[in-house]
Amino acid sequence: MPATLQAPTPAHLLQPYKSLSNAELISRIQAVREQFGPKLLILGHHYQQDEVIALADLRGDSYGLSQTAADSTECRFIVFCGVHFMAETADILANRPEKLAERGGERIPVVLPDLAAGCSMADMAGIHQIEDAWDQLGEVIDTEDLTPVTYINSAASLKAFVGKHGGIVCTSSNAKAALEWSFARTSRVMFFPDQHLGRNTALGMGIALDEMPLWDPHADALGGSTEEQLRRSKVILWKGHCSVHQMFRPEHVQMLRDKHPGIKILVHPECPREVFELADEAGSTSKIISVVEKSPPGSKWAIGTELHLVNRLKQEHPEQEIHFLSPVVCMCATMYRIDLAHLCWTLENLAAGTPVNVIEVDPETARWSLVALQRMLEVK
Ligand code: SF4
Repeated sequence: MPATLQAPTPAHLLQPYKSLSNAELISRIQAVREQFGPKLLILGHHYQQDEVIALADLRGDSYGLSQTAADSTECRFIVFCGVHFMAETADILANRPEKLAERGGERIPVVLPDLAAGCSMADMAGIHQIEDAWDQLGEVIDTEDLTPVTYINSAASLKAFVGKHGGIVCTSSNAKAALEWSFARTSRVMFFPDQHLGRNTALGMGIALDEMPLWDPHADALGGSTEEQLRRSKVILWKGHCSVHQMFRPEHVQMLRDKHPGIKILVHPECPREVFELADEAGSTSKIISVVEKSPPGSKWAIGTELHLVNRLKQEHPEQEIHFLSPVVCMCATMYRIDLAHLCWTLENLAAGTPVNVIEVDPETARWSLVALQRMLEVK
């Protein structure tokens, strides 16, 4: 089973909550929030549904939320309304050695309201697949001259692998800086799990497509590449993608441009190259939000990222014309698993002193992940 994919909450535990109205759930959630006060932080990722975001103490992207919660001196409980790898990152940062020492050894439990809220992209790169690829590459190229780079959207085990092998974690904001950091050390990079972020970033740095072989973990040998392709490579891309951003197509860009003359296209770099290259602007969720916030009234945008975020931008900026860059629904189905019933169930268990769905990264994995995350901070 992929690292982040776990069984959903048993129905008999959730049923009493599923039968409540939203108003009842909200009132019970608010009661727990009042009981804990600033000791409890509910984190809401930008892609989360509106009812959940309305109850979050902080709204943001995965790293920003984890870092802010870890830096809070009052926080003693974190409930992460996001997906599994985000809760892992929050646990690594909030319970790192210096933070534990500051709290006299007290751990902060990090709760994921539904354990089945994984990430399809993170699940496309299992640690055993990465280790196997590294071993196979070692038979063709010098892996001492290869830096592994993992996108933050990956399991903690991959971040630890990267930490141990002299590599770095990147976000969608600093992927270019992370690649530059890597090329200052070695002549090659292996980038996982998102092929699109890796390819879009490397192309922008002048690396040619034929220097970026795609490693397919399901291929019979050498990830489906030839020895010659691997020897010529500068960036070896992992064959993974985000199932949400992969849905945006070049024809959607054309359709929006034909229908709304003057519209500008704003996309996330997890989108395929064919879409990324047609866009007027591209960037992380934080950049997408900031571009819209800074745009004058009357601006017209077609945005290629998760549906809940685009709809929220639309509601919050009625002075602008904002469209979703696809005729089909592209939403993060796993993130959507987190609803008021799951949130209420986990919060009431926390309040009762019987925490459920606590995500705890083992100490060795946490230690090496932290090494790779700290390198990421150095190149911000
Ligand atoms: S939007 Fe894509 S990358 Fe983000 S959590 Fe969902 S599946 Fe994973």
